[in-house]
Amino acid sequence: MYPFVNLPLPYEYDALEPYIDTKTMIIHHDKSLQAYVDRLNEVLKAYPGLQSFTLEELIEGADKLPKVLQAPIRNYAGGVYNHRFFFNGLKIPNRLEPQGNLVEMINAQYGNFNNFKEVFKNEALGLFGSGDAWLVFDKGKLKIMTTPNQNNPLAEGYCPILTIDVWEHAYFLKHYNLRNAYVDDWFRVINWDEANRNFMNCLREYQQNNSTT
Ligand code: MN
Repeated sequence: MYPFVNLPLPYEYDALEPYIDTKTMIIHHDKSLQAYVDRLNEVLKAYPGLQSFTLEELIEGADKLPKVLQAPIRNYAGGVYNHRFFFNGLKIPNRLEPQGNLVEMINAQYGNFNNFKEVFKNEALGLFGSGDAWLVFDKGKLKIMTTPNQNNPLAEGYCPILTIDVWEHAYFLKHYNLRNAYVDDWFRVINWDEANRNFMNCLREYQQNNSTT
């Protein structure tokens, strides 16, 4: 809630070397994410009524806000949420493949992990311009999707499980313009335990909503 702070990374800046380089992590977290935090606080400063909202509530409710606020909230609240979610979804050492209930669902829907990886990668490479690629939960099923700019799947009613930031600032220093190589390296540093936890939360929320209606 307001005022938002830039939470530290859950690991050292060099923890993801050699796949994601230290300099990129420092700039990405301390400069890019910090700027989203600062801008979000600046916007909310003039709207005390919105200062008790969580990031999720701001994102989900953005289209009901006054017109002048919609784009700033979508961009800045989304920018904070998306970066936190992305950074929290990375880890080394890690398992290179999903485990637990998530892998069962991946196999059921995509056949096997390699096929899932292929579909996800194509989606991430196919996103024109800046944005994120996501694995989300959609009414009992997995879905791979992209969002432009700092938009977020919560705004469309989806529950996020995993994301990759494919803005050029996420990889340009190490991979130059080669998003393909960056996506491959990202697959080496996914925190699948965290993804499985997110998946289980999405599943629980879905089951609760369905049992009460
Ligand atoms: Mn970014």
